[in-house]
Amino acid sequence: MRYGAHDVLDGVEFEVHRGEVICLLGPNGAGKTTTIEILEGFRMRSAGEVSVLGEDPARAGEDWRARTGVVLQSWRDHPRWTPRRLLDQLGGYFAPYSTPEVARPVPVDELLEMVGLTELADQKIVTLSGGQRRRLDVAIGIVGRPELLFLDEPTAGFDPHARREFHQLVHRLSDLEGTTILLTTHDLDEAEKLADRILILAEGTIVAAGSAEQLARQVARDAEVRWSRNGETFVHSTADATAFVRELLNEHGEDVTDLEVRRASLEVIYIDLVHSHELPARETIR
Ligand code: ADP
Repeated sequence: MRYGAHDVLDGVEFEVHRGEVICLLGPNGAGKTTTIEILEGFRMRSAGEVSVLGEDPARAGEDWRARTGVVLQSWRDHPRWTPRRLLDQLGGYFAPYSTPEVARPVPVDELLEMVGLTELADQKIVTLSGGQRRRLDVAIGIVGRPELLFLDEPTAGFDPHARREFHQLVHRLSDLEGTTILLTTHDLDEAEKLADRILILAEGTIVAAGSAEQLARQVARDAEVRWSRNGETFVHSTADATAFVRELLNEHGEDVTDLEVRRASLEVIYIDLVHSHELPARETIR
């Protein structure tokens, strides 16, 4: 993808399977929004091939649009409406796209229940808190029962409780409804909890892809083993935690308590991967 003379995406190639939850991570300016907007059909690409639900988003029609759902970073319209009225109105647009296999829209009561807004259904939207507002944004994104849902930083500004509830909603959508989900986030913990696969984008290129465990294996980092023995706490870094623990237990058996093995956190892995991509580029400039 090129803006003017500036290539901002280059060699971004990936496939997403039905029902998968994919998380796009990357520093600001890496190209996440551009990638997502091309897939959503909101931005025309300058080159390359894209197929989403079997069609090119740049040319796809309303039938295709009805099969996708988009949760943008924020939606601030209709402050004096109630969630019920807004969802009812928006849902109406999807009714013509209902099929025997996929009933559209999701009935409003079911939708309100899914996002935890039942109690607030008849309250003015302007009175909702940030987290409640965001849940309404998600409800708007899924009112048409999308097969593919795009979520752009869905939990920015959530408190831990709202975040947890949102994560349960994502699991429900992917596990029970079979929704394919592509989300961007800056929250690495969220990526680890939600994603079947993480794509790390840096300077317009995918620098790593895989589950959190697979990414961990790409970064040569030792795991940390912690344990206590006779009231004393020990910490040891090792590349082979299993062998170390086996030996530890062989040697000290039942004296060992509070055993814990921690692999490198996704944060450490992420910083390593993005850094190792950026370093060679910086060196060339010098
Ligand atoms: P991210 O979402 O990862 O922060 P973006 O996709 O927004 O990254 O941006 C990627 C790059 O493209 C950045 O260098 C940004 O400045 C540039 N860019 C984004 N939108 C435009 C635009 N409309 N015109 C020119 N450059 C743009």
